Amino acid sequence: QMIGVNEIRSAFLDYFSKHDHEIVASGPLVPRNDPTLMFTNAGMVPFKDFFTGRAKAPYPRAVTSQKCVRAGGKHNDLDNVGYTARHHTFFEMLGNFSFGDYFKERAIELAWNLVTKEFELDPKRLLVTVYADDEEAFSLWRKIAGLPEEKVIRIATSDNFWQMGETGPCGPCSEIFYDHGAEIPGGPPGSPDEDGDRFIEIWNLVFMQFEQVAGGERHNLPRPSIDTGMGLERIAAVLQGVHDNYDIDLFRHLIEAVEGATRAKATEANRASHRVIADHLRATSFLIADGVLPSNDGRGYVLRRIMRRAMRHAHLLGAEEPVIYSLVPTLMREMGGAYPELMRAEALITETIRLEESRFQRTLSRGLSLLDEAAGSLHKGDMLDGETAFKLYDTYGFPLDLTQDALKNRGISVDLAGFTDAMERQRAEARASWAGSGEAATEEVWMALKEEHGATEFLGYGTETAEAVT
Ligand code: ATP
Ligand code: MG
Ligand code: MG
Ligand code: MG
Repeated sequence: QMIGVNEIRSAFLDYFSKHDHEIVASGPLVPRNDPTLMFTNAGMVPFKDFFTGRAKAPYPRAVTSQKCVRAGGKHNDLDNVGYTARHHTFFEMLGNFSFGDYFKERAIELAWNLVTKEFELDPKRLLVTVYADDEEAFSLWRKIAGLPEEKVIRIATSDNFWQMGETGPCGPCSEIFYDHGAEIPGGPPGSPDEDGDRFIEIWNLVFMQFEQVAGGERHNLPRPSIDTGMGLERIAAVLQGVHDNYDIDLFRHLIEAVEGATRAKATEANRASHRVIADHLRATSFLIADGVLPSNDGRGYVLRRIMRRAMRHAHLLGAEEPVIYSLVPTLMREMGGAYPELMRAEALITETIRLEESRFQRTLSRGLSLLDEAAGSLHKGDMLDGETAFKLYDTYGFPLDLTQDALKNRGISVDLAGFTDAMERQRAEARASWAGSGEAATEEVWMALKEEHGATEFLGYGTETAEAVT
């Protein structure tokens, strides 16, 4: 009997509730009172003030399943989607939190018992990392989990040292990895081949034990805290005996719906498209439910990029009419029970997607013809000229990343410098011919570029200080 995603979420919440954690509902994807962060990208985001001491937590321990989006800013997994077994733009992060209550030993014990006793994972398949300096965590993993030395891997990079920002709480972390088997390419964490998908990180435990103050000094926190994050879809893959997140029950159902709507069966060759559509449907629907609408700047532009990217993939699968909106009922069936806000927004979600799809339909096919023409003679390793990429952006509403994604398969990149030049030229012309105007149009172009380069000031709001990496 296979355990479904919805049951795994409940099992996690129940386990920590049994261990005196308050079950707290997911916070919204648009963080409250936090203009520095584009989207909630980790379970700790709604609790930030408790960790900094700005507010006092009403409970010493909490457990959540937090909606997260990583499609911009410091954590951008957009380009991974469809191509790795483990990344989504929208995903749920399961987490347990201690606000100055229990610390390292108890956190490791709770995590290890959950995965090996409740979830009954084979301990031989598990390995963990610790921050290179964290002798305490090293010994605790040896003692509590009984792991052999070679399965407690010391990592000296920032992957295993968490910081909220330049100043504030910080500390070492431990990541738990699951070995999906030698037939899958990829090496263990810390090896040159670690980006493969054989060893998949399932859970990250952050030990907030220091306070970083301006000027480089670091003090011990009198009451250290715990922040953890486990990807629901990744643990579901493990528990359902599949390697790939996109093969879990939830995604199988969404992908079947994509096959039905596009009348294109998933094959080795078009697999990425089915995945991108299923993934982006979730991100789109949850963002709309949390009040984001497609637009030409800020969060709305990130949403528009996600939507248009999904539409190109639907087009690739042969859809000539809007189809993505018709997938919404399937998503409601899969996730509406756990997220009532999704159900409440069903009509808005459906209409917003349908409208965006019908608007983009015509320019999408015309733009794709232009792109085919311009890129037809290019080969692997070549660059598409920036002028064309800019025209696609400016005239046909192609976000830069959509053009890049369209060329990715053929190993062709976009000349970014040329794109910037074309954009600046247009900006200068607009200024010269129509002084004081043209700002709105160029602003969105800058947005696109900043996004592309992962600039931290992506919204022009200031610096993204919250590096929530849990
Ligand atoms: P990875 O190294 O695999 O990209 P990460 O170290 O960036 O993961 P964390 O920031 O530690 O991830 O997030 C905590 C947990 O959330 C991860 O251990 C993983 O299970 C899950 N997770 C992170 N990013 C994604 C994503 N894009 N899609 C699905 N799950 C994710
Ligand atoms: Mg990552
Ligand atoms: Mg990692
Ligand atoms: Mg991690």
